Amino acid sequence: APRNFFVGGNWQLNGNKQEIGNIINFLTAGNLDPSTEVVCAPPTIYLEHVRKTLPSSVGVAAQNCYKVPKGAFTGETSPAMIKDVGVEWAIIANWAKVGHALEAGLKVIPCIEEKLEERESGKTEEVVFRQLKAIADNIKPNQWQNVVFAYEPVWAIGTGKTASPAQAQEIHVKLRKWLNDNVSADVARKTQIIYGGSVTTDNCRELARERNIDGFLVGGASLKPDFIQIVNARQ
Ligand code: PEP
Repeated sequence: APRNFFVGGNWQLNGNKQEIGNIINFLTAGNLDPSTEVVCAPPTIYLEHVRKTLPSSVGVAAQNCYKVPKGAFTGETSPAMIKDVGVEWAIIANWAKVGHALEAGLKVIPCIEEKLEERESGKTEEVVFRQLKAIADNIKPNQWQNVVFAYEPVWAIGTGKTASPAQAQEIHVKLRKWLNDNVSADVARKTQIIYGGSVTTDNCRELARERNIDGFLVGGASLKPDFIQIVNARQ
């Protein structure tokens, strides 16, 4: 297959040292499908601790990063700092930060979002293509291997409402076709497009059966041992 399954765990604003210890324990003990790429995104303050404690087979991501290396930007964290503590990835919800993060050597998970009113007014395609273009314009030809897109319908995040497999597959197919028509056939074939929004042990297998859903970005369920089953959804 041209694309490995890829599952990211976004811990959002959750966890303390003890709870993170529990997550690291179940990730370390769990039987993770070796053909699935797994990446966990703890809150910034725990990034180095998690990187030092997790097995190296599990990637670590920052949940956000800033768009310049250093300066008078109070409270921000730069890609250079993230790399400096050994962390390889950043989830990036703001397209304007993608180019700098890639230049700094991070791998990125840019999020492509869709609001409920956009879906209901038939604007989904327009809004996801606009975001994909803004991101793609900041990616150099040799950087595509460091990009995993996450399609995240905002109405499905933390709401318990999941996009149906057919709804997610439809958008993923459109995003891949856009890459084919506007970047290259090779990039379209190889770039992973993962789905995020209330993925659980109940819906992950059905979603994972869709050929264009290359994995998940998991929020709430990534804090629990359920996450192992979601990582293994293709098995
Ligand atoms: C997320 O945090 O990216 C997410 C999709 O959250 P949840 O799985 O809880 O909807």
